[in-house]
Formats: sequence, C-alpha cells, structure tokens
Amino acid sequence: MIRYALICRHDHEFEAWFSSSEDYDTQREKRLVECPICGSAKIEKMIMAPNVSTSRRKKSTAAKQMAVMNEMASKIRDEIAANCDDVGDRFADEARAIHYGEKPERGIYGKASQTEAAELRDEGITALPLPDALTPKPKKN
Ligand SMILES: [Zn+2]
Repeated sequence: MIRYALICRHDHEFEAWFSSSEDYDTQREKRLVECPICGSAKIEKMIMAPNVSTSRRKKSTAAKQMAVMNEMASKIRDEIAANCDDVGDRFADEARAIHYGEKPERGIYGKASQTEAAELRDEGITALPLPDALTPKPKKN
C-alpha cells in the first residue's frame, strides 16, 4: 500500500491509500479519487519533502527494540548464570554424568564442540546451543 498526500483544484489537502502507483493512476483517470471536502475529481499528488520525522521515528523504534532485546538477553544471561553451573570445556562430560545419574541433576552450560554436541544428541542428551548474546560472561574468580 502506498499513501499519497493529494490536493484538489480547490487546494483541499487530503490523503488516500492505493495498492500501487498504477492503482493511483487508474483510479485518478477514472475519476474515482475524489476530494472528500468538495468532491472534485481534479486532484494531484502533492509534492512532498522527504519525511524526516517519520524516518527518525522509525530509527528510534528500532533502537528501542534493540534496547529491549539487549535487556531481555541480559536477564536471560543473569538467569542462566544464577541457576546453572558454568562447566566450561567439561560440558560434554558433565552433561553425560548428569544424564547417567553419576551426578545430581542440575542446569549446566559450557562449551562443546560440534562433535561433542552430536555425540550427546546421539545418546539422547538434550543440549541446546546458546547464542553468544545469551551466554553469561565468564565469572571472575
Ligand atoms: Zn476539494
């Protein structure tokens, strides 16, 4: 959909939606586009200056969404750090030990190679890849 700012021959300004610029042309030729104020079908597109405020608003919305996502990611990171043990490179061993009941059940996170991850999967051990953004920063001990 395209929104056009239109103006009739009496200088009435109004806006109308069209599915495409061709749609606008067709409707205008058939005199289907009428000024809502005086009903005149003699209308023109208004020459518009680039709408700076709109693009600025869009940008700030994107920035806001980014901030919300960062906030969420940081909450999830904290949650993981608070509830799970960082087992580092021993992830595959620990996951296996927990799975086979050699160690008490608990949440863990750490590093696993592609091969290790595949082996765990084959053994029916659930391990989810953690995006960098959600991985807690290494604790400073
Ligand atoms: Zn008019």
